[in-house]
Amino acid sequence: MISTILQALRCRFDRHRPEQGKVFWDGLCYVGRCEHCSMEIRRAGRKRWLRDEFGGSPGLA
Ligand SMILES: [Zn+2]
Repeated sequence: MISTILQALRCRFDRHRPEQGKVFWDGLCYVGRCEHCSMEIRRAGRKRWLRDEFGGSPGLA
């Protein structure tokens, strides 16, 4: 699938796509998991999702 290849490239450049229906608000911003690479991601702006550098464990990490 060409879209899978494109998304793999996007993931490489830290442009992930959240799994639909699995995005939630953690009190600071929206967080979720990339539907392609399963990485924890955090919304940084409109249509911009970055890797969650806090490790997805707020309060513990
Ligand atoms: Zn990804």
